[in-house]
Amino acid sequence: MPSRFCIETARERAEAALRRPPPLARIIRPRPVGDLVASFVLPLELLKRQNWSRHQPIGLLARVKDDLYDVMRPQAGPPREAPLPGRPFVRCIRFSGKAPDRGADTFKMAIDILCAPEEGKHRRLSFLVDDNEDDADVHQHWEPAPPGRGFGLLEVYTGALPAVWCRWRGCAERAFRVIGWNRARRGQPDDLVKAAFCRAHVAKMQSARGLTPLGLCEGAIL
Ligand SMILES: [Zn+2]
Repeated sequence: MPSRFCIETARERAEAALRRPPPLARIIRPRPVGDLVASFVLPLELLKRQNWSRHQPIGLLARVKDDLYDVMRPQAGPPREAPLPGRPFVRCIRFSGKAPDRGADTFKMAIDILCAPEEGKHRRLSFLVDDNEDDADVHQHWEPAPPGRGFGLLEVYTGALPAVWCRWRGCAERAFRVIGWNRARRGQPDDLVKAAFCRAHVAKMQSARGLTPLGLCEGAIL
């Protein structure tokens, strides 16, 4: 990790900047969709232009990715077992002295880290299934910052599907909507219960109360 980067300072600068309207009329800040799930502040020196990345030795690129992961991991919350459902909304803002060139795509490597792990790519945070257009709604833009005080802000929102949290007391996991519980003894339609639990607590409800979920539905509204 770049030694001089301070996450707290960058986060304060990001919050201050977002409290104000964009400083240039031509800057259109994308309006987030859904609930905020995670946000990351990142040092500018790890947000490389794609035309830079294309001409570097693989070892150097791997080191930048490693450093990025090390900055992002402690900001990501508890390790995730599964990517967010639906099409999460991702907002990337590069605060820097100079606007990058068109197509610089400076958040590319950071967004890769948001994806689910794959063969040979284990240092991943599992917020997104993939960064393609179908699986994520990604928006990148630039805003000015005083020289030497730049940073990147990367935010992950649920997207159009509302987040649902487990109703088990004390549990803060993202939940699945349980379509219904079919009581093992009577099985009457009246016994259907609507609820939202995480996978672990769906299993606990099953064994503790002898209830069988009729179906799980990710994030959908009953
Ligand atoms: Zn739970």
